[in-house]
Amino acid sequence: MKIPLVDLQAQYRMIKEEIDQTIAKTVMQTSFIMGEPVRQFEAEFAAYCGTVHAVGASSGTTALHLALIACQVTAGDEVITVPNTFIATTEAISHCGAFPVFVDVDPDSFNMDPAKLRQFLEQETEVHQQQLVNKRTKRRIKAIVVVHLYGQPADMKVIGTLAQEYKLPIIEDAAQAHGAEYEGKRVGNWGNLACFSFYPGKNLGAYGDGGMVVTNDAQLARQVKLLSDHGRQDKYRHLIIGYNYRLDALQAAILRVKLAHLDHWNEQRRQHAQAYNNFLQPLCDKFDIIIPDERIATRHVYHLYVIRSKQRQQLREYLQQYGISTGIHYPIPLHLQPAYEFLGYKAGAFPVSEQLAEEILSLPIFPELNPAQIEYICIHIRECLENVSR
Ligand SMILES: *Cc1c(COP(=O)(O)O)cnc(C)c1O
Repeated sequence: MKIPLVDLQAQYRMIKEEIDQTIAKTVMQTSFIMGEPVRQFEAEFAAYCGTVHAVGASSGTTALHLALIACQVTAGDEVITVPNTFIATTEAISHCGAFPVFVDVDPDSFNMDPAKLRQFLEQETEVHQQQLVNKRTKRRIKAIVVVHLYGQPADMKVIGTLAQEYKLPIIEDAAQAHGAEYEGKRVGNWGNLACFSFYPGKNLGAYGDGGMVVTNDAQLARQVKLLSDHGRQDKYRHLIIGYNYRLDALQAAILRVKLAHLDHWNEQRRQHAQAYNNFLQPLCDKFDIIIPDERIATRHVYHLYVIRSKQRQQLREYLQQYGISTGIHYPIPLHLQPAYEFLGYKAGAFPVSEQLAEEILSLPIFPELNPAQIEYICIHIRECLENVSR
């Protein structure tokens, strides 16, 4: 049996007719830039998230860049985020000329640890007070980017309270969390702005790149919209210097078709996660393996199903022998990436993220996965763990 980490072909086969029709129709209409499909998809995606506004973007990365600019993050500023995320989170910060500053994560949820955020903000405020005395008055921390990693929302209640206390805007990086909920409310409503990616492998994926910024703030929505399309008010009247960061009409048309299936697909992902849990839970007492921890307040949408084990490398190789693909998301925390060496962080700075990077293993998960495949994967996980413990 061969089981890939994700199977995009399986999904296309399920919806081929609808997709082919909409592609043909959109090509025939030839309004490839902005146009009807983009406006319709923005409205439908806002309704899906339960937000007032949604503005299309060319990718998740550019969506984050737009949101950060809208929060007035500029050169020399600092933005708080986590080290265990895809590099796009911090690239967007760097594209503003700003610097990412990291807060470590909670070992169970893999998301930003609110206690560590509080500690950081208290310390930073003390340093800032000191600087005020020395007449360096510019506050450098400008925003917090919270990542809902693997499809599970971060602890938004505590983080939101802290952000209010310190008057910092929150940007949700919801690139892996379309449709995920925290306390019964969908992601996209917990920050000042939230950013989604429609990279093909995401829970809602385009047939190319795409992204979205959602917000309940009309002013921010207007700013993001202006920035994403050359700062234009109308065709050749430009209010600000913007970007060409628009969502493609063909992608919007495809995403409209797929959005109608998203809840069902997320539900299937959750069922697969439950099936994995049922098989793997009994192994946790006997062997070195930890299964994902779904928090009471969250509805996880399992973009990834990630286990932990010190025997990760043996597991990976063993599963590969049996045709099962696995992944590591992500093997190098951002503070230790060559690209961010200049920030001056050393190994040991964020011990939880660093330890996770050594132990995490992403198992295959996609809506079309079937129970027999999950059983096959889990049987081989057990075999491998039994072999290494012998
Ligand atoms: C995928 C992803 C992004 C970037 O999205 P792109 O559409 O690939 O630019 C940003 N943040 C996280 C956490 C992601 O997983």
